[in-house]
Amino acid sequence: MYKHLFFDLDHTLWDFDRNSSECITELFDTFGLADAGVASADEFSRHFITINRKLWGDYDKNLIEHSYIRQHRFPMVFQALGIDASVIGADLNAEYLKLLPCKSHLLDSALELLDYLQGRYTLHIITNGFAEIQATKMDSAGISHYFTNVITSETANAKKPDPLVFTYAMQISGTTAAESLMIGDNYEADILGAKSVNLDTVFYNPLAIVVDDKPTYDIRHWKELMAIL
Ligand SMILES: [Mg+2]
Repeated sequence: MYKHLFFDLDHTLWDFDRNSSECITELFDTFGLADAGVASADEFSRHFITINRKLWGDYDKNLIEHSYIRQHRFPMVFQALGIDASVIGADLNAEYLKLLPCKSHLLDSALELLDYLQGRYTLHIITNGFAEIQATKMDSAGISHYFTNVITSETANAKKPDPLVFTYAMQISGTTAAESLMIGDNYEADILGAKSVNLDTVFYNPLAIVVDDKPTYDIRHWKELMAIL
């Protein structure tokens, strides 16, 4: 019954945490952050992941703008580590944004899944990320050719979980909610957002988070989705 599948990108197909950790380790080495007092690349990465995730959550809730994330995430990491960020001469955010989209790790079996789905369904991306960066990530990971439309919060003029982004995505893809499925890792943005416009949903939920308002499918691994579709 489904014809169009809408995928989230970060933490769903593209392994954000692994790719980001690689970048953070490179920054740690390149800019001598050990000399600035950061205990290890792992500690730097752990704080970055926590703070970055919190900021993107605030962005999804319309509490902050994109530019706020770019300006504040590294200073917040250094603050959390109790380090005076002014001793780091470089613009770490600019360096991070150069490195990150060039990383290519996908989540386990994501490529196998896309190969399986290609030809059976029309595939699209719906992402709250920056358009240019998301396009580079998809090219780096070699997955751009699987997708017909890439809907970003910039092109939709709204971001998940706003219902407008899903109705816009269906409109430009020439489909209806009855023929579409939204697939993502973020319960609020991807699942509740899509449910608000009556889309069926797949919650990619490797950590088995318990949720009240059930998605249509709740899966731990992509192999489960291949058995469903
Ligand atoms: Mg995601």
